[in-house]
Amino acid sequence: MRPYVYITRKLPDAVIKTLKQKFTVNMWDHEDISVPKDVLLAEAKKADALLTMLTDAVDESVLSAGERLKVIANMAVGFDNVDIEAARRRGIAVCNTPDVLTASTADLTFALLMATARRMEEAARFVKEGKWNSWSPFLLAGQDVHHKTIGIVGMGKIGEAVAKRAGGFDMNILYHNRSQKPEVEHKLGAVYATFDELVSKADFIVCLTPLTPETKNMFTIDVFREMKKTAVFINVSRGPVVNEQDLYEALTTGEIAAAGLDVFEKEPIGREHPLLTLNNVIALPHIGSSTIETRTAMMTLCVENIESILTGKPPKTLVNKEWQPV
Ligand code: NAP
Repeated sequence: MRPYVYITRKLPDAVIKTLKQKFTVNMWDHEDISVPKDVLLAEAKKADALLTMLTDAVDESVLSAGERLKVIANMAVGFDNVDIEAARRRGIAVCNTPDVLTASTADLTFALLMATARRMEEAARFVKEGKWNSWSPFLLAGQDVHHKTIGIVGMGKIGEAVAKRAGGFDMNILYHNRSQKPEVEHKLGAVYATFDELVSKADFIVCLTPLTPETKNMFTIDVFREMKKTAVFINVSRGPVVNEQDLYEALTTGEIAAAGLDVFEKEPIGREHPLLTLNNVIALPHIGSSTIETRTAMMTLCVENIESILTGKPPKTLVNKEWQPV
């Protein structure tokens, strides 16, 4: 019997062509609706491989249903939606998509920083709504980005790529990780700071950590109070690293100046969410890596990882590094 691969969103035929040549492939037939849990459970039961999205909770129930499962190829670098420990116990390989999305996500992060600092969304809306009646000295005046201090929390692959872009804007670069990175300090002129130092000194605080039990709720009102009143907070990591109620309070009481957010506690964020009522918030629908080239590369990497594992070869990008083929 040919191995069975289930894909949880509709992906282009051109990308999955090679999978179809070797395996039986089935796909959830929607691009913009998540696969329901009961369908995922039923498919996991039959599948040798699952190609999943960050919106799928690949939890204990899915992994235990998957008696034949050998690999989860998650189309994201983050894997907080997958129960890695449960996969480890069952000898299931978990793969993600690092590297191929680094530059595009860094571009979006820096664009969001610029747009938030320079109030670009408000300004664009102002013109389209016919409110531009005259030039005025402080019309929609924002904050300078160049020569300011950026503080990157989570100086990983994307963090480094953001630091590189910040260097082009003559910014001072602070970073915080659990481990110091001398080579990054040398290469990019970044300076290590404790979390407390970083949040109090930076003009732009950019979060790019993975979502883990340690980073969940990392940004609370106490942290926002430590920031400069002029600080701009940018989150492109995962929503739950931020307490959104606290962020709303910080933005409405003047503890910080503005926020640019690509990710939210609950996605999609509801239209009635208080953060969306604020002019000093730019909200994007989790599009950090969303360019045609990068999303295609991410899909292709998932396909390659599945092909490798199902044909007994080592995958390119394994999350649970201790995994061994059985
Ligand atoms: P990465 O290379 O693994 O970098 C993550 C960095 O975070 C590492 O340098 C790590 O350093 C640091 N970190 C981990 N736990 C930390 C903690 N408790 N405190 C401080 N720093 C911590 O990953 P990446 O490719 O740069 O991606 C980072 C994250 O961005 C992903 O996990 C994902 O959630 C998010 N992302 C979002 C989008 C989007 O569309 N919005 C797109 C891509 C990625 P230490 O281990 O030394 O602490």
